[in-house]
Amino acid sequence: MRIAVVGSGYVGLVSGACFADFGHEVTCVDSNQEKIASLKAGVMPIYEPGLEQMVATNTKANRLVFTTDLAEAVSRAEAVFIAVGTPSRRGDGHADLSYVYAVAKEIAGNIQRFTVVVTKSTVPVGTGDEVERIIREENPAADIAVVSNPEFLREGAAIEDFKRPDRIVIGIEDERAREVMTEVYRPLYLNKAPLMFTARRTSELIKYAANAYLAMKITFINEMADLCEAVGSNVQDVAHGIGLDKRIGSKFLHAGPGYGGSCFPKDTLALVKTAQDYGSPLRLVETTVAVNDQRKRAMARKVARAIGTDVRGKTVALLGLTFKPNTDDIRESPAIAIIQGLQDGGAHVRAFDPEGMEAAKAYVSDVAFGGDAYEIANGADALVLVTEWDAFRALDFTRLKSLMKEALFVDLRNVYRREVVARHGFRYVSVGRPKEDITVALATAAE
Ligand code: NAD
Repeated sequence: MRIAVVGSGYVGLVSGACFADFGHEVTCVDSNQEKIASLKAGVMPIYEPGLEQMVATNTKANRLVFTTDLAEAVSRAEAVFIAVGTPSRRGDGHADLSYVYAVAKEIAGNIQRFTVVVTKSTVPVGTGDEVERIIREENPAADIAVVSNPEFLREGAAIEDFKRPDRIVIGIEDERAREVMTEVYRPLYLNKAPLMFTARRTSELIKYAANAYLAMKITFINEMADLCEAVGSNVQDVAHGIGLDKRIGSKFLHAGPGYGGSCFPKDTLALVKTAQDYGSPLRLVETTVAVNDQRKRAMARKVARAIGTDVRGKTVALLGLTFKPNTDDIRESPAIAIIQGLQDGGAHVRAFDPEGMEAAKAYVSDVAFGGDAYEIANGADALVLVTEWDAFRALDFTRLKSLMKEALFVDLRNVYRREVVARHGFRYVSVGRPKEDITVALATAAE
């Protein structure tokens, strides 16, 4: 099948590469000439494990090409995927659909045959109706079916998620689209990935409901962590204890500094706005948004409290800047709010991230970036683990102790066990775990 993917960012590029890997003939389009030039040269504009290899293999096999020429790509395609950004609209938090609508307009004049236009971008309920209206208005003769097919991939595991999804949600209003979409996803369907067909407006809402639910689950355990600190319980055991209940499940129950990234913050906000517009407010989601916003900044105060008195003039070294490991995405990362909070208090901030330092420069200033954990820890008053990259899972605490001015380790991801860090003479602060870890004490007593 001939497929055009418009927008070659995280979602467009990964989708395009995977469709090509299924055996389809794919053209990835982007209006950013630099991005297309770099993709043509085999250089990935984003960090995503396995992507470079997959793009190289499929480009070589002539199944994957990159272009800025939307007209040519659309005129040849049987299915056109729209995968451009839908950021928060400045000022009101609604999803900014201007990129989606601009693409719809551009697509319209280039439709040559029956074409399925698929919105893969995360878009509010009713966007498919508007995309269809725009195309029909621009080109009344266009034979199209507009479909919703939201994407659920996670950055850092994008290829795995795309190729082994829990489900593929497809919202259709025209039966002809069912056949085309089944053909597009046939290789996954054969692998028994459930293909769920529903109405277009329902499909659009499923994506937001999924993200809001996951954001709520994270926020629930984060608040529970605060309660654990207050009452002397261990949030990891609480998470384990409830996660074993199949009705709850263990995923997304890791307490930390709050969710970030390019999706949850903007999608929860957009859903709240849609719900308000329709007079059916989602109070749980509204509270999730507010609690999470406050939490990121509260983490800076937590670090300050751990340091003790005033952070003015203190040097704080941060491990990790990206909103999660295995991505270079810094958007809405808790690290940004933590850095700003510490700097507002007068601290000097240093940071190291395996992939995110370049991107971080656009969001923070006056941060001294280093080449590894030990370089930034040298002479620091506190070392703070913000993002749980694998590179930070086996730190040499003996070496760190010899380098740091004060042996203070703040673990905002609960990667370490208190006694392991304390053994090296560090003061250890984590999230939602008691000072004396009873689980460890019991295990030690039993030995
Ligand atoms: P992105 O910003 O990485 O990529 C968007 C791309 O679209 C950019 O390269 C941009 O140059 C291009 N573009 C914009 N206007 C264009 C036009 N008129 N013609 C051609 N190209 C154009 O965005 P992303 O992270 O891939 O997200 C895309 C959509 O997918 C969003 O709606 C997002 O919410 C959704 N989504 C993202 C993820 C994720 O993990 N990043 C996961 C699921 C869904």
